[in-house]
This record gives sequence, C-alpha cells and structure tokens, in this order.
Amino acid sequence: MAPRTFVIVGASLAGAKAAEALRGNGFDGRIVLIGDEPEPPYERPPLSKGYLLGKQDRETIFVHPPQWYTDQDIDLRLQTTVTAIDRDRRVVTVSDGKTIGYDKLLLATGAAPRRLPVPGADLDGILYLRRVGDCERIQSTFQTASRIILVGGGWIGLEVAAAARAAGVETTLLEADELPLLRVLGRQIAPVFADLHRDHGVDLRLGAQVTEIVDERGTAAGVQLADGTRIDADAIVVGIGVAPNTQLAAQSGLHVDNGVVVDASLRTSDPHIYAAGDVANARHPMLGKHIRVEHWANALHQPAVAARSMLGEPASYDRVPYFFTDQYDLGMEYAGYAEPGGYDDVVVRGDPAGREFIAFWLADGRVLAGMNVNIWDVNETIQQLVRSGQQIDRARLSDPDVPLGQVPPDVP
Ligand code: FAD
Ligand code: NAP
Repeated sequence: MAPRTFVIVGASLAGAKAAEALRGNGFDGRIVLIGDEPEPPYERPPLSKGYLLGKQDRETIFVHPPQWYTDQDIDLRLQTTVTAIDRDRRVVTVSDGKTIGYDKLLLATGAAPRRLPVPGADLDGILYLRRVGDCERIQSTFQTASRIILVGGGWIGLEVAAAARAAGVETTLLEADELPLLRVLGRQIAPVFADLHRDHGVDLRLGAQVTEIVDERGTAAGVQLADGTRIDADAIVVGIGVAPNTQLAAQSGLHVDNGVVVDASLRTSDPHIYAAGDVANARHPMLGKHIRVEHWANALHQPAVAARSMLGEPASYDRVPYFFTDQYDLGMEYAGYAEPGGYDDVVVRGDPAGREFIAFWLADGRVLAGMNVNIWDVNETIQQLVRSGQQIDRARLSDPDVPLGQVPPDVP
C-alpha cells in the first residue's frame, strides 16, 4: 500500500506542532507542511515583546531548528501558497500550479491583520505587526522616529506601546472605545491597563476615531480624528484586530462562519479536512458552544488533538482558554472565557492599584475566567475553579488569606 500523505497548510505554530504531533503519534507516512512565509515556523509573541525589545535573539523565535524538519522527514515547503483545494480529487494546488494529493488535510492558515478602512491607509509609514519582517521594520522605526502613533488599544497596540516607550519614542495610543481592552476585561479591570500606559508616559487618547491618514508627499505624517484633532507622527502602527484566513476553506465549500467551523475533534464539515489554531472555530465541550481563539496556547495545544483525529483516534479539545501578556513590569495570565454581557460579577483579590492582584469574572456565582497580574503559580488553580463550574463563596474568593486552592474547599 502506498504511504499515506498528510498535508498541512500554514507553516506557523499550529502547523509545526501538528507535524510534530503526527510524528509523535507514530505516523510514518508523508507529511507536507506548506507555508507562504520565507522563514521556517516561528512564534509570534516575541514579535511584540522580547524580540521587538531587542532582548531576545532571532534564533530563539523558531518553533524548531531548521534541521528538525529534515530529521523528522517533514517536507517543509516555504514561500509556497496553497491556492485551491479540490475536495473531490483530494488535492491542493500550490502557487507554482502543481498539485499535491492528500489523504488528510489540516488547515492551519491562521489570521491576517484587518486593514484600517480610511483614506491614506496605503501610504508609506503605515505599519502592521504579524510577521517577523513587520517586527524588524517597527524595530528600525524605533531607531529613527521620535513620535509614533498606535491605532487600536488591543494587544498589539498596548505591547508595541510598551516597546516604543522602552525605546524612548514618544507614543500616542488611539483607542476608539472608552478604554483599551474594554471588550476583553470590562469596565472594572480595563482601567488597570489604561493607567499602566499613562504611568509610562503614553499619550492615551480614548474615544479617538481615525478618519484619515495625513499624506505628506506620499508618506504618512499623522492622523486626522473625527473630532477635528490632527496628531503628527513619524510612523503609525495599526493593530485593529485580525480576520481568520478562511478563503481556501470557503472556496472549497467547507462550512465557514467566523473561521473554519470544526467539531470538538477539530474536524471540518469534510471528514478528510481538519483545522486548528487562529483559523478554527471549534466546538468547546466545556463551554457548550463554538469559539475561535486567537491566542498562542490554543495554537500550541490544538494541533495534538487534530493530529490524533487525523490518525483516526478519538480526541477532543477542551482545554480552558488561556493567554498572557507582558507590558513594562506587568506580567499577566488569563484563563477562561467571559464575554461582554456573559458575566454578572467581578471579584478582585489583591491590589489592582499596585498591579498585583487576581480578578475573577463570575456568572451566577460560578467563575468563568480569572486573570493573575504579577502573581505567579496560580493559573492552574484558576483553571480548576473555571473547570469545576461550582458556585463559589465571593468573600473567600476575594480574601488573599484563603488559599486559592481552598475556594471552594474541595478544589484539589
Ligand atoms: P498564524 O500564526 O497566523 O500562522 C498561519 C500561517 O499560515 C502564516 O504563516 C500564514 O502566512 C500561513 N498561510 C495562510 N494561508 C496560507 C496559504 N493559503 N498557503 C500557505 N500558507 C498560508 N498570543 C498569546 O496568547 N500571547 C501573546 O503574547 C501573543 N503575542 C502575539 C504577538 C504578535 C505580534 C502576534 C501577531 C500574535 C500574538 N499572539 C499572542 C497570538 C498568537 O501568536 C497566535 O494566536 C498564533 O500565532 C496563531 O498561530 P497559527 O499557527 O494558528 O496561525
Ligand atoms: P485585538 O486584540 O483584537 O484588538 C484590536 C483593537 O482594535 C480593539 O481594541 C478594537 O476595538 C480596536 N479596533 C477595531 N477596529 C478598529 C478601528 N477601525 N479603529 C480603531 N480601533 C479599532 O487585535 P490586535 O491588537 O490587532 O492583535 C492582533 C492579534 O494578535 C489578535 O488575535 C490578538 O489576540 C493577537 N495578539 C495577542 C497578544 C496576547 O495575547 N498577548 C499579543 C499581541 C497580539 P473593539 O474591541 O472595540 O473592536
């Protein structure tokens, strides 16, 4: 019998981890890992933190050393775009027009930055941050720019603001909403991040709607806001969210709805095709609904489940969603899932003003999510609280003298 071929589209964290998990589970067929970037799979978190700050070397960002792909007999094809999937013939077409047959296919195509929808958004000097080359461009901008504008008070905006301030660049951060991270953290906790950035000298403008990029001889020289304000800058970094790369899936008729829709085993509406990472809108058994997670831990862990499913073994992805950030001297981890309007209480243990605390989002007395800020070795316990689904005594939850593992007493 001819060896089976498993094709992975997208050679980033999810793609590389899937290849690793397939080999780890004993798959000895052909693995073709196809990515459109020039670099072998790398991690993106350092691009807005250690590597951007110049504290981490380039070699450290890669998921595996280049030799690993040869050693594992993985056919890694870089600078190659998959342009079509023919589900009837089970082949993908790549950018040079050739086709590759597959027995199983994994879509790990990730997400791409949303473009700023205003006049002047295509000018030189408008920067986005997704790829290592973007990071290096922003790094060199820090060397020459004295003023920078960040559009969007999400994770990119805030982490790049911290790096810009570390580089001594004057920084204006524009957030259209009342607070940065309002949707993720809510009115009670989001001010922690607003204060953090103000305290580090960021000119934080809230309710700021960019209507136009100021054009000076073809280069972005600043922004015009809806209230008539003009702000000048040498460079503008835009971080207004991402859209999942679903074009291939949609063109081939797979079920797409806020990402490629997959079940808990990460299988799409086609039993030969799977999806993992930022692109996958996966049924989450614990939450009882589909969610698409745009964070590192999800791209790290989902592929092991996808690999087992591709090999025909029972598997289901039900980890508690998790992410982290580092900004200045603030480090935090967040575990769980609390949507705006989905919780009715926020409980804090510790000192938000001193930026050393844990916040919990609850519904009906049950912990949906928790975030530890500058407090370590507690996130596992937070995840247990979330997973337990038990009603929690609010007073004990907020009391730092009650060990977190004893709220409620029967959490192991
Ligand atoms: P991606 O990383 O988007 O990779 C998908 C790959 O597929 C890309 O290389 C893409 O070019 C390629 N591709 C797409 N279509 C095709 C095609 N048709 N043919 C070939 N190749 C294709 N998360 C955290 O939890 N904490 C953090 O601190 C954090 N920091 C981040 C910092 C930055 C700057 C960025 C951009 C993201 C950060 N994230 C963080 C999010 C995290 O990096 C993502 O969730 C993760 O990269 C998703 O991995 P992925 O493999 O699913 O997708
Ligand atoms: P993000 O975290 O989704 O934040 C986007 C921000 O831009 C939100 O505040 C959003 O406001 C705002 N916004 C949306 N449209 C806008 C517009 N037209 N004008 C101005 N602001 C607008 O996305 P991101 O910061 O761009 O990050 C990109 C991706 O990388 C995300 O998937 C993110 O999770 C990931 N990332 C994660 C980390 C981390 O986990 N530490 C770090 C870096 C990057 P609304 O919320 O009101 O829409």
